[in-house]
Amino acid sequence: MTARLLEGKFFANAIKEEAGRRAAAFEEKYGVVPGLAVIIVGEDPASQVYVRNKRRSCEKVGLYSREVALPADTPKEKLLSIIDELNADPKIHGILLQLPLPKALDPYENEFLNRIDPAKDVDGFHPVNVGRLVIGEPGLTPCTPAGCMKMLELAGIDIDGKNAVVIGRSNIVGKPMMLMLMKKNATVTVCHSHTQDLPSVTRRADILVAAVGRPHFVTADMVKPGAVVIDVGINRIAPKKLVGDVDFDAVKEVAGAITPVPGGVGLLTVAMLMDNVVRAAEIQQNNK
Ligand code: NAP
Repeated sequence: MTARLLEGKFFANAIKEEAGRRAAAFEEKYGVVPGLAVIIVGEDPASQVYVRNKRRSCEKVGLYSREVALPADTPKEKLLSIIDELNADPKIHGILLQLPLPKALDPYENEFLNRIDPAKDVDGFHPVNVGRLVIGEPGLTPCTPAGCMKMLELAGIDIDGKNAVVIGRSNIVGKPMMLMLMKKNATVTVCHSHTQDLPSVTRRADILVAAVGRPHFVTADMVKPGAVVIDVGINRIAPKKLVGDVDFDAVKEVAGAITPVPGGVGLLTVAMLMDNVVRAAEIQQNNK
């Protein structure tokens, strides 16, 4: 069997077009363009690439974007006061703190993230938004799992009543993915590094999500024939070679549908960020 290829570009474009339409409607109605501020501290090269991609996506979608670049030795209080300023800025509807932070600021990561106004928290990391996700209330949700859910919806893949297995329990991917799948009536199992006999669990999955951070971790014998396999992993195995958590070449012969890496979930993450910025602007307008 050769699986249906779920290409990120196709779904990401659909998500961005929709965000662009809503942004234009918002501007027409309220006279303000939804705006994103990205704070980058230090000079991590990978982070600089991510920030550049976000700025380009904002331009493409028609959003206002601002980059706040700070030196690596920025004091903690300074970063907190910049977040406060952005919280109060009416041109900014979404605030994103690019991670990882430099070593000296890293221990305070949660303090910074929790300082962002929950209504502007376009990463969906603030405890208020996490709580809303847990109790099933609408709010801003983490972009990567939200992108995976949107892709399943746009691809017409049924979730209701299906067995879903998520490998990984991080706060940014695994746990929110579990909650989103459960909300759509999947029966969800979450696996992690202490899970016993992982292949026997993953082989029960109609929908298998890999968010482990290990190259080619999911092998063909771990996949139920016909399953939908979503590869969230991004692993650099050589200076110019990225691979996912799934052994793509072997698994595509077993799965019913599969996302590639690169060109899969990564593109959806940025697209959902655009969607979240527009949604944040709408939420703030409704709160007025
Ligand atoms: P993370 O915080 O390191 O979490 C990895 C998870 O994998 C943990 O829950 C860990 O279990 C589990 N794990 C590790 N080894 C395992 C094993 N042998 N068997 C079963 N589970 C195992 O990583 P993350 O932030 O969720 O990211 C996961 C991957 O997704 C990374 O490659 C990351 O780069 C990628 N990612 C991609 C995007 C995107 O836009 N596409 C966004 C975010 C992340 P324990 O909890 O027991 O340690």
